[in-house]
Amino acid sequence: MAEQKKIIRVLVLSDQVNAILYSPDILPRFENVDLVLSCGDLPFPYLEYVLTVLNVPMLYVPGNHDRAMHTFDGRTIEAPEGAINIDARLITLRLPHVRPLTIAGFGGSMYYGGTSNQYTDWQMRRRIASIEPRLLWTRITTRRGIDVLVTHAPPYGIHDGLDRCHQGFRSFLSFLRRYRPSHHFHGHVHPAYGYDVAPKMYHGTQIRNVYGYEVLEISI
Ligand SMILES: [Zn+2]
Repeated sequence: MAEQKKIIRVLVLSDQVNAILYSPDILPRFENVDLVLSCGDLPFPYLEYVLTVLNVPMLYVPGNHDRAMHTFDGRTIEAPEGAINIDARLITLRLPHVRPLTIAGFGGSMYYGGTSNQYTDWQMRRRIASIEPRLLWTRITTRRGIDVLVTHAPPYGIHDGLDRCHQGFRSFLSFLRRYRPSHHFHGHVHPAYGYDVAPKMYHGTQIRNVYGYEVLEISI
């Protein structure tokens, strides 16, 4: 039996297309990545390119700007083909030679008057509650919290802004206290806004704002 790995390499994408990732140069630079996570607001063809070339699992949540896309040849792309939408879901991911990973996701941003992928904090709390039985069951059976939380928006008070659109969710803070993921990745906050986006620790969770891409090693 092959020895289990204790570290996985994760490519996290969000909000901005990166020219190197969207070119053949992606392969020599990122071929040792085990998993791709997208925090949203990225064109579906870009995600499909990264997924096709790297050929590893990709999980994503939608951002507040993600909509079905219409192509020049008259097709409608509803979602990045081949990627796994984890919006309001908890999944158990089985990668080769690694123990199963539990990853939860919540897309969208705070409600600011739009029509889709926008939620009040109360609505986000209800979305979290919709998977609460699975979260609790996972916590009991694995005897630890979940491994990774992926969201588009930040938690309240961490990396977030004062305007309605960029305000974070209080419901994410209670999620973090309850389920203690080792990592929380989110997007939505561009460095140009001038907010403090340095990685933060919150009750044992490392919270990272991703703009463009980051490659991280996760100990499991
Ligand atoms: Zn956004």
